[in-house]
Amino acid sequence: MTHETFGGAYVPEMLWKTLQDLIAAFENAKKDKVFQAEFADLLKNFSGRPTPLIFAERATKRLGGAKVYLKNEGANHTGAHKITHCLGQGLLAKRLGKKMIIAETGAGQHGVATATVAAKLGLECIVFMGSEDIRRQRPNVFLMERLGAKVVPVEYGSKTLKDAVNEALKFWMENLDKAHYCIGSVLGPKPYPEMNRYFQSIIGREIRSELQEREAKLPNAVIACVGGGSNAIGSFHDFIKDDVRLIGVEAGGVGKKVGQHASRKIAGRVGIFQGYKSLFLQTDDGQISPTHSISAGLDYPGLGPELADLYQEARLELTYALDKEAVAAVDFFAKSEGVISALESAHALAEVRKVAPKMPKDSIIVATISGRGDKDLFNFARAFKDKSFRDFLKDEYERY
Ligand SMILES: *Cc1c(COP(=O)(O)O)cnc(C)c1O
Repeated sequence: MTHETFGGAYVPEMLWKTLQDLIAAFENAKKDKVFQAEFADLLKNFSGRPTPLIFAERATKRLGGAKVYLKNEGANHTGAHKITHCLGQGLLAKRLGKKMIIAETGAGQHGVATATVAAKLGLECIVFMGSEDIRRQRPNVFLMERLGAKVVPVEYGSKTLKDAVNEALKFWMENLDKAHYCIGSVLGPKPYPEMNRYFQSIIGREIRSELQEREAKLPNAVIACVGGGSNAIGSFHDFIKDDVRLIGVEAGGVGKKVGQHASRKIAGRVGIFQGYKSLFLQTDDGQISPTHSISAGLDYPGLGPELADLYQEARLELTYALDKEAVAAVDFFAKSEGVISALESAHALAEVRKVAPKMPKDSIIVATISGRGDKDLFNFARAFKDKSFRDFLKDEYERY
């Protein structure tokens, strides 16, 4: 592969001015003490940061190698890391004088985080969602509505995430002066990847200082799951210049054929989609391929461009975990550490189970748990074929 420069802003010309205004507001905010203080206040007193760094003592003994620490982003308000970049963008939207934030969502996690921030900051919120996803993700739609957001069904195409993105973009172009488009990962045109990484990089800085306090050294490896890549680059960024292995874990799904996984390592090729250049799962004609993962958050065809750069430079190791390895990892860490992780994060935990035993006992792994498992209750129940859970759902239905 020749050396590519990933990222960019491949957008219709009429969006360019809005993106430039956003770049200016972001650059300005980075230097502004008032912005920094507001952001820090929300992270501490709304989201509950710093999140704990858990020493996984029993898991470490069972695995018999490296000391394992878990950075628990699931302890954040709303249950995952996503709230962090939504808060940052919400504050920027206010600085730009926008009255509304809009978002697209697939499984609904990004929609819930955006609706939460909109309610907290007093912004109007519209979330675009494929009608097929609305049907499958009723609990999150219900939460978004309770938070005061308007959820707009998208009825064309496959009626899923990519159609919701198109509809959100269309709405944005018609309402550039009043709406900020809140993108949910380190994806999209400039400045979104860098901006969301800037907000999320607090994860890595906290890991560094928490580990310094406990062990007085750096980790040997940091491991995180990779959908678009926001929790991963957030965990990795502070360690890029250090002698620390950075390991990103993608969705291996159920196999290596097209449509069975969402791993850019397995089949990613250079392309341009949704405003940025990166590695995508795509056909020979450049159309996006179908993807699969048991975890909705990793079921995405593109890789954040900064991660694609790091991968190309061989600074980032990419690997994948299968659906069933993720489910087994949830179980392992639930029973040995009392932590029920989201299925996305469980991909990182599955990798911990593979690498920890091969590393010396005086080495340290930090794995980021991007979110807690509450949202996956229905998935877990199905994965563990829990019959009584099925009966419970039937009873609930009858009580309605
Ligand atoms: C959305 C989500 C992800 C994937 O997003 P990234 O941008 O790759 O971090 C991972 N874990 C959880 C819990 C999520 O909600």
